[in-house]
Amino acid sequence: MRTRVRPISPRQTGRRRRRPDEHYVLQLQRTIGNRATTRLLRQPVEAPPKPAVKKPEVLKKAGVSTDDRVNDKTAGLIQAALEESVELAPYLKGKFPKYAITKGFELHTREDDFNEAVKTIVKKNREPMTEKQRAEAYGKVGGFYDRPSNKVHVRSRTKFGHAVHEAMHKVASPAFHGFWGDFVNEGVTQLFADRLLVEHGLTEVTDHEYKDELACAKKLVALTDWQTVAAAYFTADMKLLNAVGRKLKMDTNGVHDAIAAGTLCSRLS
Ligand SMILES: [Zn+2]
Repeated sequence: MRTRVRPISPRQTGRRRRRPDEHYVLQLQRTIGNRATTRLLRQPVEAPPKPAVKKPEVLKKAGVSTDDRVNDKTAGLIQAALEESVELAPYLKGKFPKYAITKGFELHTREDDFNEAVKTIVKKNREPMTEKQRAEAYGKVGGFYDRPSNKVHVRSRTKFGHAVHEAMHKVASPAFHGFWGDFVNEGVTQLFADRLLVEHGLTEVTDHEYKDELACAKKLVALTDWQTVAAAYFTADMKLLNAVGRKLKMDTNGVHDAIAAGTLCSRLS
C-alpha cells in the first residue's frame, strides 16, 4: 500500500516557536499561576546562558613579555599559561601532572654549564673542548628539550618565548615527532608556542630560526584548520595525515616517504 506524504503546513516549517504575545501570557498566568508560566516561557524561546569563558591573563598579570629573559618563575608561568589556555584545553587533557612544565625544567645560570649540556645531551659530542670552544660551538642555542629525560633546558639569557617553544615540545605527543620528523615538528611547535603567547595577549616570537618550518606548519593549517593540526600534534589524531594523503593522493607510506625526502612542504602549496 502506498502512503501519501502529507504536505508540511507553513506553521510546521517555522524554525522556532515565537514568543507568546502578552495577552496570551496574561491569560496563562491567570489559569496556571506565575511560576509555571515562567517555566513555560523560558523553555522554548531562550537558549541557556553559556558559561562565561575566562580570558587567559596569567602572563599579563605577571607582566611578562615574549622577549623577556627567563627566570626562576618561568616554568610556573608557562605551566599556568597552558592550564589557562582555552584554545589548548581540549588537547592537554590528562597531560598533567606527568608532563608538567614545572617538573623537569632546568635553568642553567652558568653559560658553560648550559653549553656543556648542549654538547653532551644534544650533540652527543664526547670530544674534549675548552670553555671557549664550547661557547663558540653552542653559544647560539637558546634552549632545548631532551626527550629521553623529558626535560627542558634553558640558560639565563634564553627569552621567555623561546622557553615556551621548548615547553611545547614537552606536552606534544611523541608520535607526532616520530611520524612527521624534525622539520614539521619544529614548525608546528613554533606555531602553538605563538598561539599560546597571542592568546595570552603577548606577541609572537620573531627571532627564532624556524621560518621555513613555521611556513610549512601554516600550510598544514591552511589545508585543514589549526584544531586538526593541534589534535595531531598533541593527541596523535589521524585526521591531519588523512587530509595530507588526500591532498597529495598518497597513502601513509607515500606521505612518510615525502617527509623523509624533504619534499612534503613544497608539495603542499
Ligand atoms: Zn624545538
